[in-house]
Amino acid sequence: MVSEQCTENQLSRRRFLSLSSATAAILGIAPLVGNAADSLAEDSTSSDDYYTKLGVEKIINAAGTYTYLTAACMPPQVQRAVAKAALHPVRLKDLQLAAGAYVAKKLRCEAAMVTSGASAALTLATAACISSANGVSAQEIPENVGKMKNEVVVQKAHRYEYDHAMLLCGTQIKEVVTLEDYKRALGPNVVMTNFFNSAEPGLNGAQIDRETWLSVAHEHGVPCHNDAAADMPPIENLWKYTGMGYDLVCFSGGKGIRGPQNAGLLLGKKHLIDLAVTNNNPNSDAVGRGMKVAKEQIVGMVAAVDWLLEQSDEKNQAEYMRQTDIIANAVKDVPTMKTRVFMPPIANHVPHLLLSYDPSIVGITTKQVQESLRTQSPSIELNPATGTSSRVGIPSDENTIVIATWMLQPGEAEIVGRSLKAVLTKNHA
Ligand SMILES: *Cc1c(COP(=O)(O)O)cnc(C)c1O
Repeated sequence: MVSEQCTENQLSRRRFLSLSSATAAILGIAPLVGNAADSLAEDSTSSDDYYTKLGVEKIINAAGTYTYLTAACMPPQVQRAVAKAALHPVRLKDLQLAAGAYVAKKLRCEAAMVTSGASAALTLATAACISSANGVSAQEIPENVGKMKNEVVVQKAHRYEYDHAMLLCGTQIKEVVTLEDYKRALGPNVVMTNFFNSAEPGLNGAQIDRETWLSVAHEHGVPCHNDAAADMPPIENLWKYTGMGYDLVCFSGGKGIRGPQNAGLLLGKKHLIDLAVTNNNPNSDAVGRGMKVAKEQIVGMVAAVDWLLEQSDEKNQAEYMRQTDIIANAVKDVPTMKTRVFMPPIANHVPHLLLSYDPSIVGITTKQVQESLRTQSPSIELNPATGTSSRVGIPSDENTIVIATWMLQPGEAEIVGRSLKAVLTKNHA
């Protein structure tokens, strides 16, 4: 639930608790909180507030689950699981395997693994498919991949920045546009295909839908990876694409799932996940050696899945809308202001508030508003589609401010609304 996130209220409650446990200690009575992990989480004094110590500004995230803004905050029950995991060493392989088996069961797929993010999941998926197609061990990737079957087939419209994650295994990407291209491209050197889940047919000229993409690859015996990194909510997407038959599917752990930011999930067929595991750490001679997830974050990822499965999409979306309405109401009387709400159909499928106005009347441009909110205290980050039409999937332009409320903590929608209103109505002349 949104109301469970880390809030200023909670922080002051923690200050109160640490104060009162100090008082309790003086009085020689039992601490308020029972077990070690709980007291660890609650006992935050200013000396272990490292953002303050380092002088790193805390922000209000009115943008969304962006990597450069550290994406989501973990819910308290996930934070507690992380703190408990920090108390004991375990055998990393035991934890990796047990976590994968647990997640697979919860998310209704044959097998799963916790990775250091969706990008790492894509690398490990690629390594698994190379291993499978060529029957080679982890040590050969990427050094000898140039001499093996090494092609990944991708729609031209699905080329993206995460291609890097596949290329670092030594693969070559073969672009296709039409269905005929695609069938021709699925030759003997192909090890896998990659589908960018949120790039629907029509977007950037994409022609092949996800069902056709899958069935044609399987007719040619080629495994398919689907990148659904940012495509939860709805929660059921976590089993939808593996359920359709995608051999491998990745999700980011630190976006909508609200696990640790350096965690993610690779879900899919058992024989491929087993190969992905052999390409992963703690094995040193493997492409995944540098993609380690610490015990705390593996546990945090699993706990986040448990937390998520207790959530309701309807309740969460209603809360995001309530916050959106607070901000829209705060600025609706600004001259020329038009407010509307946009729901991206797949990735970041949550309300985005679009605030459009005439800067020649209001006296300030959207980019100036963005910068003004960034430099005030508390610092507010608006969605990066603010003031531009260049962000794929959000219908913004230079006179539109964009806000996503789903990463706001309780009470912050009011702050964002007030700050926006103040910046838009002060006399700019
Ligand atoms: C965010 C994202 C990734 C990377 O996710 P990480 O968990 O940060 O590695 C990969 N693909 C897509 C489409 C994304 O949106």
